[in-house]
Amino acid sequence: MDGTLNGNKKRKIARRVLVSGGAGFLGAHLCARLVEDGCHVVALDNLATGSIDNLTPLLGHPHFRFVRHDIVDPLDARAGLQAERIFNLACCASPAQYQIDPVKTLRTCVDGALNMLKLAQACGARIFQASTSEVYGEPEQHPQKEGYRGAVSTVGPRACYDEGKRCAETLFFDYHRLHSTDIKVARIFNTYGPMMQLDDGRVVSNLIVQALRNEPMTIHGDGSQTRSFCYVDDLIEGIVRLMDAPAEFTGPVNLGNPTEVTVLELARRIIDITGSRSRLVHRPMPTDDPTRRCPDIALARRALDWEPRVSLDEGLRRTVAWFERRLMSGTLMSGA
Ligand code: NAD
Repeated sequence: MDGTLNGNKKRKIARRVLVSGGAGFLGAHLCARLVEDGCHVVALDNLATGSIDNLTPLLGHPHFRFVRHDIVDPLDARAGLQAERIFNLACCASPAQYQIDPVKTLRTCVDGALNMLKLAQACGARIFQASTSEVYGEPEQHPQKEGYRGAVSTVGPRACYDEGKRCAETLFFDYHRLHSTDIKVARIFNTYGPMMQLDDGRVVSNLIVQALRNEPMTIHGDGSQTRSFCYVDDLIEGIVRLMDAPAEFTGPVNLGNPTEVTVLELARRIIDITGSRSRLVHRPMPTDDPTRRCPDIALARRALDWEPRVSLDEGLRRTVAWFERRLMSGTLMSGA
């Protein structure tokens, strides 16, 4: 990614921007990109799953500030949180983590979104919501288009996240209708890359860490379930383009990589890239785990002139290199 809009114009705009969830995987990449683009960035995070380490390169930058705050608690625009643009990314994204305290997850999605919308209204800010492909649940349509309304369990262990995110979308569109709030909603599909946590339970990080340690690699079910994995730089470019799009374009818009791959194929590619001696072990599928997931990105192509550029192999190579450095500098790699 070269930080250009439609490939030709450099963005250097000294905007005041707030990023909730700024110490998380996507949030930290977004903060870095926005600072690079010349914005004055405040990252807001309760550090539930995020880490200050992700922000190390930005700490001390004159245009960057970190504020520890839980978005379930109200935000005050007078407390130095005025912004022209707000990105709401705060919410634990890994099922293993958001299921630890499902009520908190739901409250982060709903009360948190409401607090961020109130702040946007008070500041007159444009506000972005990090929604998710999980709003489609176990999809009956393939690939998933934005018009598809989803098949989501209201009572399963993933509902706190899936239904929370659905409710957040509803709040965004109600604020748009009631208060003319300038909203942008992206439905993000599986994204991976450097700065994912080593132990967050997501499939890419799990498999890479197990492969690098030559430990058995966990495949849920027979591994024939599909996912489409988007490299983080591509995703961030999509988010930035959506935020820069004309006000009439609110979304929801799918952002993800439409190249579908089975989990088994993903594991094999990781073994090839790492040269691992790991073997695959099969475990039961988690409850309500979707069997197929693939975005239709025609709308993003048309409205944002956006599509992913980084191939799965290239993205995995970059991600493996980062995990390798992390493992070398921290815990010792076992079995090496
Ligand atoms: P992450 O868990 O790495 O980051 C989430 C961040 O939000 C963390 O830093 C966490 O500490 C913070 N947070 C959680 N609850 C909070 C609260 N109540 N108040 C303040 N901060 C809070 O996850 P991520 O992958 O970076 O995801 C970022 C956003 O994108 C999430 O909203 C997630 O739902 C969405 N999303 C991500 C993916 C993906 O593949 N990474 C896919 C779809 C949607």
